[in-house]
Amino acid sequence: MSFPNGFKCTGLATVIALVLAACDASVSENEAGVSSSNESGIQKSLAIGEVNPENWPSAKNPFGPQPDVERRVDEIMSKMTLREKVGQVIQADIGSITPQDLETYPLGSVLNGGNSAPNGDNRSPAIDWVKLADDFYESSKKAYEDEASFIPMIWGTDAVHGHNNVPGATLFPHNIGLGAARNPDLMREIGAITARETRVSSHEWTFAPTVAVVRDDRWGRTYEGYSEEPTITASFTAALIQGIQGNPSDDDFLKGPHVIATAKHFLGDGGTKDGRDQGDNIDSEADLRDIHGAAYPIAIEAGVQAIMPSFSSWHGRKVTGHKGVLTGILKERMNFDGFLIGDWNAHGQIEGCTVTDCPQALHAGLDMYMAPDSWKGLFETMLVQAETGELNLDRLDDAVRRILRVKVRTGLFEAGKPSSRAYAGDVEILADTKSKDIARQAVRESLVLLKNDGVLPLSPNQVVLVAGDGADDIGKQSGGWTLSWQGTGNSKKDFPGGSSMFDGVKRHVEAAGGEAVLSVDGSYEQKPDVAIVVFGEDPYAEFVGDRDSLAYKPEDDRDLDLLKSLQAQGIPTISVFLSGRPLWVNREINASNAFVAAWLPGSEGGYAMDVLFSESNGKASHDFKGKLSYSWPREVMQTPLNVGDKDYDPLFAFGYGLSYTKGGQVGVLSEDPGADVLGVNLEDYLNTGRAIAPWGIRLADESGQEFVETTPAKSKDSVLSLRTMDDGVQENILTVEHNGKGEASFALTGSPADLSRQLTGDMALYLRVRPEALKGNEKLSLSIDCSVRCDREFDLGNYLKGQSLGEWTELSVKLSCFGPAEDLDQVTAPIVISSNHAFKMSLSDVRLVPNEGQAICLPAL
Ligand code: BGC
Ligand code: BGC
Repeated sequence: MSFPNGFKCTGLATVIALVLAACDASVSENEAGVSSSNESGIQKSLAIGEVNPENWPSAKNPFGPQPDVERRVDEIMSKMTLREKVGQVIQADIGSITPQDLETYPLGSVLNGGNSAPNGDNRSPAIDWVKLADDFYESSKKAYEDEASFIPMIWGTDAVHGHNNVPGATLFPHNIGLGAARNPDLMREIGAITARETRVSSHEWTFAPTVAVVRDDRWGRTYEGYSEEPTITASFTAALIQGIQGNPSDDDFLKGPHVIATAKHFLGDGGTKDGRDQGDNIDSEADLRDIHGAAYPIAIEAGVQAIMPSFSSWHGRKVTGHKGVLTGILKERMNFDGFLIGDWNAHGQIEGCTVTDCPQALHAGLDMYMAPDSWKGLFETMLVQAETGELNLDRLDDAVRRILRVKVRTGLFEAGKPSSRAYAGDVEILADTKSKDIARQAVRESLVLLKNDGVLPLSPNQVVLVAGDGADDIGKQSGGWTLSWQGTGNSKKDFPGGSSMFDGVKRHVEAAGGEAVLSVDGSYEQKPDVAIVVFGEDPYAEFVGDRDSLAYKPEDDRDLDLLKSLQAQGIPTISVFLSGRPLWVNREINASNAFVAAWLPGSEGGYAMDVLFSESNGKASHDFKGKLSYSWPREVMQTPLNVGDKDYDPLFAFGYGLSYTKGGQVGVLSEDPGADVLGVNLEDYLNTGRAIAPWGIRLADESGQEFVETTPAKSKDSVLSLRTMDDGVQENILTVEHNGKGEASFALTGSPADLSRQLTGDMALYLRVRPEALKGNEKLSLSIDCSVRCDREFDLGNYLKGQSLGEWTELSVKLSCFGPAEDLDQVTAPIVISSNHAFKMSLSDVRLVPNEGQAICLPAL
């Protein structure tokens, strides 16, 4: 890698100087060894949103000339039809394509999104994946005019903390925990294990690693990043990628136990304004390069074969359509010769594009479109555009060449059908104890001890109460991207051989003659000697995890109450905090004798207890090693907060982490959150298809109520079912379907909120709704739920019948229609839609809006 003049490689140098001689060693570092990257090094000033590739580091293509590979690609391409070329650059999701479709459409790839799995079942065993891969393989031969010129597909999956879509696979801590562990050698082993397990299910490609450098922890993907600071991310990149792919100079590169890796999301995903997922990064070009771009030249030199452009924008321009970024920086300046895989329908977000019509992305440099459900329309449009010349055919050829180059390098053409390949279906590999041992080591090394008044290490020979809703919940400790996209809905039985925190306590305590008592609510019969309380964030992924502040569950104090009540009973408490990011937990820390940030440790999380308990000699066999790779906030709105900031004043600084050898006292912390986070969001309930905290979705039918944080979901008797759908943008609408079998309701619900002020302010309940199917004259009502009063129901069905099916309509109903102000002072559900007849409707937004004359009252029922 070489840097242009003026490029300062400050902190980055510490990590990569060993490998690379290009940095100016005299550049000084601050204490943390961190680049402040204020130095611009950018010489020309260009229009907003334009980049200067010449001011970016170049990278060396690790492959050098490969005439055999190129000749092979030439030969394959010489036989390809235009149709086959168009197909090669499109990837479909297995939830939206069948093997039969592939007999007609010669696509280059499929993926399984986080919620897609064989037979529509997220718990399908590895063997079902292999079978489906074979089916795809066999069918896709038929799509080629000449079967001899058949190009096998590659199948991509998000193996982002182990092969997390397949039950029984080894789940590692999410990246935030690995960042705390600061152990690049461990990363290589994690990469290698993940790749080998990925081969078991016949996948040859993972959408990992995420090399996002996360600057605002309100982002729902904070835990997918290793750090807020680029040197840590950069120090892991080569080791991890080579663990996954093998070494470019070795014969088993991309073959045998290895798979294709993807560095993502290029560029600036971790730096969007306010930490908004898919949002806008407005950093300078120098920060874009030095902070967010730091890992990419390293990834390229390590041989990464795929890079995923980000959903996000830079100064308002979607990166997926940004030629300077994709082609100028990555392909021309950094000599990347692999291919760019788009993110989930991300091309549809480029100005002027839809998900089925977007030559702009290819022209900007995208090589493969991730078109999960839009693949067919996209294929048809692109084929026409290729025929008319609207699509640049040289660019198309280049994209195809890049994909084929990678396919040739993986040995795909000689590999035979998926089930015949090495490791395929070899499920014992998933249970390999050597792999679990590495995951356990990672768990131990990722723990960051924030406070210890001397209570730790714990003697195992005593009565230990294990409380909190994370005590025995492997789903919760594994977070998002675990069997399902959001990681919700998992239970212990979904993790054969896994270890919950309680399991870990039990192992230590019972061996030493003590007693471990599981009690989620903290109640007990015999007073325990000590309590370990495991609590924290519930699983989420992507935008669903975006937050407005760093407050920990501002709407719910149950964990704090549990800690306080144990302390009031004179029981020492140790908090084990599960979270995808640092959060403001000063009150909980005050109510704990020791506080451990355990992040999202995965299926082996119980091995955290190896560090908390002592052996017979009174010492723990493992000490705490983790150091914060993210700064911990002092207040709820102290974000962005990053080492190197001017006026940097965190509660616990980047690099902080106590241990048994290096103690430190934490005094009583201020309990002033610094901003009022309670009672915020009285007005936004459903926004582009998702419930906005503190509001959640409730489905109810006669058999009882069900709260769902995410979709898809069904009510207990399946009268109602809920799905998220894409309407141009990913997952931006919710579709509610009633099967006609009984009374059932859909609601957005939360703790009682006082909407009386909104009512007197003449606000209205706004719905953006699309009736999909309605029948006869049945009742379909709209109401609001309150703790007391407010029982008026309005005729929504009749209103919707007046609208066109399949068309969006906007409806604003005055709050005053629902009752006088005093009726709305304890609203538990600002919208309830119920019926006892079949209907289907989609909703994108529900919120309060000012009545500017548009609001009405519906007829009462
Ligand atoms: C899908 C997931 C997918 C995710 C990617 C969602 O729409 O349900 O399967 O992984 O998008 O963003
Ligand atoms: C995410 C990617 C992921 C893809 C496929 C997207 O929504 O942003 O990180 O690889 O879905 O699931």
